[in-house]
Amino acid sequence: MKKLTQLINNFTKKVDKKVKMAPSRFFQNRGHDYVTGTTVEIPETHIKTEIALMLENITANLKAVQMYGEDGFYLGTAGISYMFYHLSKVPTFQSQMSTFLESAVEYLQPSLSTAQKYASRVKDVPSFILGNCGIYALAAVIYHKTEQKAECEYFQKLFYDAANTCKEMEYLTCGGDELFVGRAGYVCGALWLAKELNIPPKLEDLHEICSVIVASGRRYALQHRSQSPLMYAYYDVEYLGAAHGLSSILQMLLSVPGFLDANPSNAKDIKESVEYLLQLQDEEGNFPSATDEISQPAELVHWCHGAPGIIYLMAKAYLVWNEEKYLQSCVKMADLIWHKGLLFKGPGLCHGIAGNAYVFLLLYRLTDQQKYLHRALMFMQFMETDQFKKNSRVPDNPFSLFEGIAGTVCFLADLTIPSQAAFPFFDVFNN
Ligand SMILES: [Zn+2]
Repeated sequence: MKKLTQLINNFTKKVDKKVKMAPSRFFQNRGHDYVTGTTVEIPETHIKTEIALMLENITANLKAVQMYGEDGFYLGTAGISYMFYHLSKVPTFQSQMSTFLESAVEYLQPSLSTAQKYASRVKDVPSFILGNCGIYALAAVIYHKTEQKAECEYFQKLFYDAANTCKEMEYLTCGGDELFVGRAGYVCGALWLAKELNIPPKLEDLHEICSVIVASGRRYALQHRSQSPLMYAYYDVEYLGAAHGLSSILQMLLSVPGFLDANPSNAKDIKESVEYLLQLQDEEGNFPSATDEISQPAELVHWCHGAPGIIYLMAKAYLVWNEEKYLQSCVKMADLIWHKGLLFKGPGLCHGIAGNAYVFLLLYRLTDQQKYLHRALMFMQFMETDQFKKNSRVPDNPFSLFEGIAGTVCFLADLTIPSQAAFPFFDVFNN
């Protein structure tokens, strides 16, 4: 797992820096924007056909075998299992529910074997997006859906037991607060697990973990004289975006029920940290990837780095504090993504077009404006053009959930239920 984390770290920092020399990172958006007064029709039959083709492609190329069991939701079979589980809940696919659940169970198995392999590496266990706790949570929700009660309880217990590990401030020396392997991810997973099982989250544990996140951020910020009351580093980089950075850490602190009210001094520092991030938004609507890039133009329009990930924090801030400036920040980000979000990097969630298109579904839910549904559909249609198919880069893991078309499938399926759509694990309305 560490290897992959490092790889992502290197990839996002070094490769992106190199690519910065390239003239452009995105296709010019020549699609027409929303015409006021029109009603957007969702082409459900067409979407179903597209998804069926993609599923054939995924299952033919990324099989439920042990060699693909590594790397959690991000690249592994756990991500494909999640996709099938997600599809099984979408009303459009109700007739295929049992088939999809069978596939979810099938693709879960290699991940479970991998999780077992790493179970003795206690400090790696809480990892949600990349590691064991993600697999435990997924197993619990799938076995809940298939009514296998004992299995569901067994994996819930493994998930909850890991809480104690991440209550220890320095349990990960590379930085234990971020989303992929750290505490923010564990909190994200715990909230998702509770939502899917329709049970209350274990708030005592989560409040304790959130207090450690705040204490850790305060300590780092003091030591490094940060301008933000809370700051974090992952492999010595102070990331700001969703993947390893400040925004998703703050988002999770805002998402745990009752934490802000129960801890006024923590709430003050959390809000000031959100304000710190907000004032970094540039004229176009984007944000720097990390604090060492604050003085440079922000060029990455990815979920992992930049506006398409930070928007979930600002949307959550708007829902929590009901201040217009957060919504305005989101609108600005959505406009930026409309112009610069058709990425060359491919169709995926982490740094691809589907991840960026999810932003429009978020804005649709926030504002109820048809304009955003239109924009989401236009991004879908762009991925069907020859221009995209011939010229976009093929991701390293083209069938995976975060880099490949498994994530695109989730986005397309969510287009058929836009009022419930959410980027995987980032449903700011329910978490
Ligand atoms: Zn990415």
